[in-house]
Amino acid sequence: MSWKEHLREGIAELTALRLFDYDTAGPDLARLDCNELAFAPTPDELEGFVCALREVAVHRYPDVSGLPLREALAKRWHIEPDEILLGSGSVETLAMLMTAFGNYRHGAPPKVLYPDPSFPYYEVVARCHGVRPVPVPLDRTFQLDEACLERTIDRERPALAIFASPNNPTGNRFDAEVLDRLARRMDAVFVVDEAYADFDGRTMLSRFRATPGLFVMRSLSKVGLAGLRLGALVGARDAIAEIDKVRLPWNVSAVAIALGCAALTCPDFVERRVRTVVALRHTLETALRKIPGLVVYPSDANFLLVRVPSDASEVAQRLLRGGVLVKDVSRVGLLERCLRITVGTPSENERCVNALRGCATPA
Ligand SMILES: *Cc1c(COP(=O)(O)O)cnc(C)c1O
Repeated sequence: MSWKEHLREGIAELTALRLFDYDTAGPDLARLDCNELAFAPTPDELEGFVCALREVAVHRYPDVSGLPLREALAKRWHIEPDEILLGSGSVETLAMLMTAFGNYRHGAPPKVLYPDPSFPYYEVVARCHGVRPVPVPLDRTFQLDEACLERTIDRERPALAIFASPNNPTGNRFDAEVLDRLARRMDAVFVVDEAYADFDGRTMLSRFRATPGLFVMRSLSKVGLAGLRLGALVGARDAIAEIDKVRLPWNVSAVAIALGCAALTCPDFVERRVRTVVALRHTLETALRKIPGLVVYPSDANFLLVRVPSDASEVAQRLLRGGVLVKDVSRVGLLERCLRITVGTPSENERCVNALRGCATPA
């Protein structure tokens, strides 16, 4: 017997997440591959962070459920703290959902429905939890095919569904009415992943009390705090109380709680970043649209999806040689020849446009 024989089914086939080795590319690399915010906190904000850190009792466990941060988020979202579950990033709350929900029925494993293309992590987390993925293709405009989704829901009876709105990597939002109708039809666990909702200005947070089984996932990663690993799941308080039982205690560190609170009590911390990114996205989009042969898809998020006229992997390699790292998504269904470009600083965006101009036009 070896440990290998005890590895859970499906794990051996997965690949661990490995991102680009940034150190190999030098300090000037424009990192437009991960949808992070390109701007560090301002000196004033950093001052606030340092003050908050002084108060952190690192020799003590933090509040077991991160209450101070849940209170700050509840105030922001006009809901109650016990309707919020914190995760070390929103992906951790996704793992908690899959731990808490999904039973075998008549010998068949539980299923999770999600649109395709979408966030690759949905499949990974599902497989790690013995939940069977049910991807449903988006239409040619990256929108939901409601009739097809309804048929799939009726046929497959998934325990869970998860829809990122705005969606990654396509950048578009989905219609809240359609999502709400699908949630009601499912009458199970229906998650709307709003990692990019700050840039879109719309949210389904006002709906979870009225629609049974509707959960909203939020993240602080895209608005400038990716390194803190802070995410949240919002839902009916009795459901949140059940999921809370599978959460590992103290899953969010004292440092993350303190700095998260400091950021959220900074007036305009999130809003100012969102305004900046959306303005830069418009500028980047306009510049990219002027490049012949390039198709730029409309975005409600902090990145743009573009289709290049030649082999996207080659274009990505050439961009990298020019000091610009983007995400090659061209091997994903519906996305042939597509690259995903995070909105960066003005100079990074300019470099990206210049580099693309140099290599997008067919020879
Ligand atoms: C970036 C992203 C997240 C955020 O994950 P965190 O764990 O909060 O950093 C969640 N969902 C989607 C679709 C994303 O693109």
